[in-house]
Amino acid sequence: MEPIQGNVSIDAQNIMPIIKKWLYSDKDIFIREAVSNGCDAITKLRMVDSAAAAGCSIRVEVDKEHKELRFIDDGVGMTADEVKTNINQVAFSGAKSFLEEYAKNEDQENAGIIGHFGLGFYSVFMVSDKVTIDTLSFREGAEPVRWESEDGMAFTMTAGERKERGTTITLHISEAEAEFLDLWRVREVLERYCSFMSVPIYLTEIKPEKEEEATVTGEGDAPKAAEDGEAAQEKKEEPKPINDTQPLYTRAPQDCTDEDYKQFYRKVFHEYEDPLFWIHLNVDYPFKLKGILYFPKLKEQFGGIEGQIKLYSGQVFVADNIKEVIPEFLMLLKGVIDCADFPLNVSRSFLQNDGYVRRISNHITKKVADRLTGMFKTEREAYEGFWPDIHPFIKYGVMRDEKFAERMKDCLLFKTTEGKYLTLEEYKERNGEKLPDKMVYTSDAARQDAAIRLFTERGIDVAVLDQAIDVNFVSYMEYSGDPQHKFRFCRVDAELDSLTSQEEAPALDNDKLTAIMREATGKDDLNVQVKPLANDTVPMMLIEDEQTRRFNDMGRIYGRSEFTMPAKYDVVLNSRSKTIARLSEREKDERSLLLARQLFDLAELSRQPLEAEKMTEFIRRSMEIVDLAAQM
Ligand code: ADP
Ligand code: MG
Repeated sequence: MEPIQGNVSIDAQNIMPIIKKWLYSDKDIFIREAVSNGCDAITKLRMVDSAAAAGCSIRVEVDKEHKELRFIDDGVGMTADEVKTNINQVAFSGAKSFLEEYAKNEDQENAGIIGHFGLGFYSVFMVSDKVTIDTLSFREGAEPVRWESEDGMAFTMTAGERKERGTTITLHISEAEAEFLDLWRVREVLERYCSFMSVPIYLTEIKPEKEEEATVTGEGDAPKAAEDGEAAQEKKEEPKPINDTQPLYTRAPQDCTDEDYKQFYRKVFHEYEDPLFWIHLNVDYPFKLKGILYFPKLKEQFGGIEGQIKLYSGQVFVADNIKEVIPEFLMLLKGVIDCADFPLNVSRSFLQNDGYVRRISNHITKKVADRLTGMFKTEREAYEGFWPDIHPFIKYGVMRDEKFAERMKDCLLFKTTEGKYLTLEEYKERNGEKLPDKMVYTSDAARQDAAIRLFTERGIDVAVLDQAIDVNFVSYMEYSGDPQHKFRFCRVDAELDSLTSQEEAPALDNDKLTAIMREATGKDDLNVQVKPLANDTVPMMLIEDEQTRRFNDMGRIYGRSEFTMPAKYDVVLNSRSKTIARLSEREKDERSLLLARQLFDLAELSRQPLEAEKMTEFIRRSMEIVDLAAQM
């Protein structure tokens, strides 16, 4: 053919500088683009001639000596005309609007997403100072073509020398991007983006001849091979493909065993612990969606949950955790999702406005809810067994996603201090008579034991809501409930009404008791109530306002302690307690003040640990009381 010189279509001239400027952070996607093009070329061949495509593969060669990175495939190849239309003209169709949009608001949140999306073939210019395409089409009588460009804008096209069907893309890596001549760096990128691609990919390091013999790392002094023919110095180091061409999620669910799922989980997420259970997604209509979502075991009781959802498009990795496609709360799970029709080149506005993306997201949410509600209905015992691990995820999902909440609302469980798991309705049924429209809970079963007993001894179930998420969840349940019929959550030490007893109690000198408590604590405005409590062994309790305490808990969780409000509590003295009766009979002297202080500290201790100073004082005072007892 006659050599052709020219400029790539006008789009490229505008866009190439933007690519170079803005894609600095995630340059490595060029590897994904080059390999996926090779993969596409082989897939195309498969469609026209499946026999010829049977043994096809992609080879990635790292040639440090010549500063070259090569992507070699034996797919369909291109004729000169195809190079003209596919490379010179339309290569930017997908990327153009994306980049224009990106350039408009360059420093905004796009920064995180831009690198995830490929720009097709031209992304190789981010790292190269020269790119060559050597290609021979599979079509009968096709001539080999060579295309070369230094900047992705001006190119030359000449007759090529390639003898076999397929395409070799040779990147002459620029000085600044030398990291891409490092075998391990290339391997890492390949494993990230290409590990599920449908064609085997081999990674090879091409070593200078001399080094091969001596196995010494000679720097630049290796004699240059006589000809350019690569075959002479080729040395295959990795006979095994770096990818799994048929990842588990592409198989039919009925063909997968539990062990398959576990193994896939361990391999893909580098996990050593098995997942709790999983959901295999396999939809063909109205969109193509495959994937596996795993429910991981919580690492530690109060630890956060950190998931990872890898998004693929036709077995090509697109990105982790794209919140437009996967509902945010599902990010707590681990899994792979493959949407075959999902373009590699997408803009954020596409993601946000596209009905297709929204439908995928809704579908995934529905599948997860279906699995959970199905398990609740038919395998309640297993569901209860998983509950301690999955409840933070479910609660988060319910708070985040209305549709999910609607589906899950009857399957939310509350674990009681006695180890039962009750739904809200079951709780109401069991306790409604004694405790109308309320659920009592503990945020720390060990510490709040005395208050818990005041309920459990009367046959009232106390829920354990002791995780960070429960502070929010409790408030969510209150405001999302039926506004006509308000249901409240009360911590065991915030619920005075149900703690008081109907039993006869001696009338005590309330004024005197109040005066003693105020003087003992040094708080003139202390609110003191004298009431008969359900249990006569508890002399005194501090009842803290539920709302104030929740507000402060929230502040602590978010690390905003400067916004906390002063604790608001009432002192409740139990008129059925012998100790309080005795205190009421005493004069207000040293001894009664000593007693009052001790009672106050004991009441506080049953809610939370004492601060260091108070603790020291408490111990000192306890010694004093022990000594007094010894004198009797
Ligand atoms: P896309 O892959 O989305 O079509 P690219 O910019 O990655 O966009 O590639 C542009 C076109 O160049 C491809 O559609 C294909 O026709 C052609 N092409 C690129 N690489 C190869 C290859 N290795 N073999 C055959 N054709 C290729
Ligand atoms: Mg492509």
